[in-house]
Amino acid sequence: MSIAFVLGINMSVAGVFAVAFAVVAATNRTARGARWLAAGYGLGIVNVGLEFLLTWQVDPTPIGIGIFLVFLLALSFALVGVARHYCTAPPWVAMAAIWVLTILAVPAIFSLAYGSMPRLILYQLPYFAMQLLIGIVIWRSGRRQPLDLLLIALQLVAATIYIAKPFIAVTIGTASSPQGYMATTYAAISQSGSVVTLMAIALVMLLIMMRDTTAEMVVRSETDPLSSVLNRRGFEHHAELALLRGGESAVLIAADLDHFKRINDSFGHAAGDGVIAHFAAMLVDTAPPNAIVGRIGGEEFAVLLPDALLSDGRIYAEAVRTAFAAAQLPVLGVDRGFTASFGVAQRASDDSLFELSRRADAALYRAKAGGRNQVRVALGELSSAPAMGAA
Ligand code: GH3
Ligand code: MG
Ligand code: MG
Repeated sequence: MSIAFVLGINMSVAGVFAVAFAVVAATNRTARGARWLAAGYGLGIVNVGLEFLLTWQVDPTPIGIGIFLVFLLALSFALVGVARHYCTAPPWVAMAAIWVLTILAVPAIFSLAYGSMPRLILYQLPYFAMQLLIGIVIWRSGRRQPLDLLLIALQLVAATIYIAKPFIAVTIGTASSPQGYMATTYAAISQSGSVVTLMAIALVMLLIMMRDTTAEMVVRSETDPLSSVLNRRGFEHHAELALLRGGESAVLIAADLDHFKRINDSFGHAAGDGVIAHFAAMLVDTAPPNAIVGRIGGEEFAVLLPDALLSDGRIYAEAVRTAFAAAQLPVLGVDRGFTASFGVAQRASDDSLFELSRRADAALYRAKAGGRNQVRVALGELSSAPAMGAA
């Protein structure tokens, strides 16, 4: 198989992935980094094109330097894209250092004898460093799911291939001039090794983007945009999971803003929205980290405390109630407080979420009937639980 054929395949592969990343970037606003990867693989096409041109050059050095630097630029773009995707700052200082050293080394590299070991090693070092940096960026992002680990492993394989190339070249022999490079077995091994790893890296990166986009979509479909807590679907999903995990001592708090219609009527719907967001933030700020907080209706909320006793739930609800009643809501533009009512129920044996909610709602109903701005608890099946913290 001729090297021209391998280069042709490399060019098509780079093109296919450049288009794939460009499509991802264009169709998916949340796919950070895709445009950089598209640019990186796009430069891969330029790089292979230059390899073709090189064969016909009388003086191979200008194009040779072009190939050398264009590929480093492609790897730099890939590094920025990967860093963006993993929401970390690209390692600008390390990248700049690689670039400065590389450019300073260009005269030396291209004056050394073609095919000599020092030249081969110096030529591959920047690629090795850049590829290693990509692996480090992923590792330092802290994401360690199987696909992330696979991508790190592939970066290490790619880095190893760069550093192994001089030794392969010396072992099997390479051309004595750049123009003769394409005809060598070394070129075939070097080029096909690169294309296989770069293809694997692109595929895994696309899978990671797909995985993360799907996860973001799930989060979005379970989040209430106004209050930033879970919506009903999200709350039910996460609360049911928590109960399944054996939340024997789980406590559910149902909360409802008092006379909310009046807030809307007096201050407008936008102000009402502000109060909803403010109340949700209070529910979250007061809750322990493992609490599941949801807005399950217009101005109705539910909080599941997975490892809590009835007394914990009552103290929590009381804390939110007091804070909310005392809060000055700047969103309303007036110095006027509002209140909320709460119903608290503890899970009995293997209560379903539905059953637990029903009992918390019954307690909430009593809090409303009892004059609002209060916390009531559901004690077993008792219908008249004692009041707590009545205003
Ligand atoms: P109660 O003390 O008995 O709970 O009285 P209430 O007025 O709060 O009760 P009700 O459930 O009858 O009214 C709730 C109101 O909440 C009705 C609706 O206009 C308003 N609402 C529902 N969703 C939203 C929302 O997203 N934004 C705003 N601003 N208002 C909402
Ligand atoms: Mg209400
Ligand atoms: Mg209501």
